[in-house]
Amino acid sequence: MSESMLENRVAVVTGASRGIGRAIAIELAQRGAAVVVNYHNSAQAADEVAAQIKTAGGQAAVFQADVSDLKQAQGLIKFAVDTFGKLDILVNNAGITRDTLIMMMSEEDWDAVLATNLKSTFNCSKAAVRHMMRKRYGRIINIASVAGQIGNPGQTNYSASKAGQIGFTKALAREVATRNITVNAIAPGFVDTEILDAMAPEILEAALKLVPLGRMGQPEEIAHAAAFLASDQAAYITGQVLGVDGGMAMM
Ligand code: NAP
Repeated sequence: MSESMLENRVAVVTGASRGIGRAIAIELAQRGAAVVVNYHNSAQAADEVAAQIKTAGGQAAVFQADVSDLKQAQGLIKFAVDTFGKLDILVNNAGITRDTLIMMMSEEDWDAVLATNLKSTFNCSKAAVRHMMRKRYGRIINIASVAGQIGNPGQTNYSASKAGQIGFTKALAREVATRNITVNAIAPGFVDTEILDAMAPEILEAALKLVPLGRMGQPEEIAHAAAFLASDQAAYITGQVLGVDGGMAMM
């Protein structure tokens, strides 16, 4: 058996109904993990992800939860443990944007983005770590962004939430390392998903000029990185931020 395989692993992927989360759920399942496909609003899309995994011979279960809410996040982790017997891998992927310049940004725009992107990471990790500590094994992977490393105009809320995820990653990595739990972040650049629909095409075009590889990433390219960090091959990697951004940030 290849070391990169995830047989007998159980994973939760938040926001797995669409985009990057969907690609990560499918990739982890292809490598043998049983996957809980979390969604918030897109029930049909989440069912389709689970159906695709099962058709390919994998194991999947769907669970609705707004992960910005602690109780619902706890419910999601409990569902994974009740359904598959344990939890080995948590991917904190759920995220939103509410882009606008700070002069126009409402308190609600700020709060919604911080709650969905950052508080959710706390909520799910807190619940997951309890189980992982007992098992002396865990992989937590936070999907941050280049915006959290270099900042984006019009995204003070989003960039703050993503920088927050990066700080959270490093602090938690230090807390749980002795229990054989690794915590890492991935910082994607521009990836071809619906989250970019809110961006004006001319701004996206200008932004792509800053990408040395000269193109957008595909969700599957983020999923490959997540699968590596979830694998035994990444056992000695913790507290790191892996840029998957076409060379955009080079930290
Ligand atoms: P997307 O296509 O818009 O998908 C977002 C996913 O998050 C959906 O599955 C959505 O579920 C889920 N979600 C949103 N709010 C949620 C909540 N409160 N509880 C549970 N799930 C929730 O976005 P994406 O591009 O795949 O982004 C995924 C992650 O990658 C985000 O954290 C994003 O910040 C990060 N990222 C993306 C890019 C990019 O260029 N695409 C770049 C850097 C980082 P429902 O549809 O079911 O509501």
